[in-house]
Amino acid sequence: MGSSDLDVCAYFERAAEALSLSDDVREILRHPTRSVAASIKVRMSSGAIRTFPAWRTVYSNALGPAKGGIRFHPSVNADEVATLSFLMTFKTSLAGLPFGGGKGGVAVNPRDLTSHELERLARGYVRALRYDLGEGRDIPAPDVNTNGTVLAWMADELAALEGTARTAGITGKPVSLGGIEGRAEATGRGAAKVVHTLRDHLGLGDKAALAIQGFGNAGAQFARDMVAEGYVITGLSDSSGSVVSRDGIDPVEAETYKREHGGLKGFADPAPDDDLRQADCDVLVPAALGGWIDGDNAARVAAGAVVEISNQACTVSGGDALEDRGIHVVPDILANAGGVSVSYLEWAQNLSGMQMSRDEVFADLDARMVRIAKAVAQRADEDSTGLRDAAYRIAALRLADALEAMGTQRLFNE
Ligand code: NAD
Repeated sequence: MGSSDLDVCAYFERAAEALSLSDDVREILRHPTRSVAASIKVRMSSGAIRTFPAWRTVYSNALGPAKGGIRFHPSVNADEVATLSFLMTFKTSLAGLPFGGGKGGVAVNPRDLTSHELERLARGYVRALRYDLGEGRDIPAPDVNTNGTVLAWMADELAALEGTARTAGITGKPVSLGGIEGRAEATGRGAAKVVHTLRDHLGLGDKAALAIQGFGNAGAQFARDMVAEGYVITGLSDSSGSVVSRDGIDPVEAETYKREHGGLKGFADPAPDDDLRQADCDVLVPAALGGWIDGDNAARVAAGAVVEISNQACTVSGGDALEDRGIHVVPDILANAGGVSVSYLEWAQNLSGMQMSRDEVFADLDARMVRIAKAVAQRADEDSTGLRDAAYRIAALRLADALEAMGTQRLFNE
């Protein structure tokens, strides 16, 4: 049989087994299509050259050009990038988008760089991968520590190398440079739509309590949208610490405090052991970096449901341990699919020359998130599985249909 080196491939193997997928499909989806490593040389302000290791993986382009963010973080490595490209492949498939899955990263702490150095690094990344990237090949987007300005530098570099002014090859650009309205809100808003759509499946009553780890772009938007729906935030954290309040936290006040004090610490009571996993709540929402819930600490989770806004918030053993305890897990490929869904609209807008209003973007996003959340819940009910297995079955089936349309072993043996 052979198997992938990636832990997360276990999710696909389970789906393949349950769906009796063909050996061809299993073999194709077990391994990334292409992984490229590069050394980006940057002239630093000191005058010296510094080298930054960088990667880009296309896991699959069975359903279209690869799509996935570029992460700037000191701990990024080839395996992490490949794992994230696997997740993107199943996320775009689940969301019904005409994309494959990819991901990129650079091992760097961008806070150590001046803005000139950061621009040279961003442009250097595109130059190193110029033959791999492009609107019909592989389309990067923002991820951890890469923002609209970084993506604007990348889009400008790619367009210059291609001799065009069209920038569909990079999404997440500022609106004034071909970006799309509503992209900043998309991930948090999409996650809120998913949770609200799944409220019966998750057993959430009125005023259900939420604790959110990672009060950044996605986590803060999610908090605002959930409060608008009548849910209550009882715990929040960022890299400065974790705070809890049984009376409920106003996310707008928390944002103001965070802006003024540089972090949430001190805004409300500290969480037990400064560990939000143990916070008393109905739904625990990891929205910082991956791997926060693992096989060792899953027993400490007090909530009845976990919503993975961060990619791979649970390790494979952590997610399994939660489900063994009867805790629902809304998987990353469903919970955070709002971001790539709006990136798709940006790409389509750039290719077509048509422009979408903010209301049109949100209408498309909301409808897609409700549609896929309902499909996953229905599949979970029909198959008596958790939400993650249900999501992987839907995504794997769409990929299998595309791959088998090229012919199966039966065709070639006839
Ligand atoms: P962000 O950088 O804006 O926010 C991350 C937040 O996490 C920050 O507030 C930071 O202080 C906090 N944090 C860091 N370490 C922490 C720790 N140990 N404990 C508690 N908080 C900690 O990032 P974002 O764009 O909101 O993305 C969050 C996660 O969602 C990432 O894993 C990202 O891959 C995933 N995601 C984001 C998008 C998107 O469109 N933004 C799309 C898909 C997935």
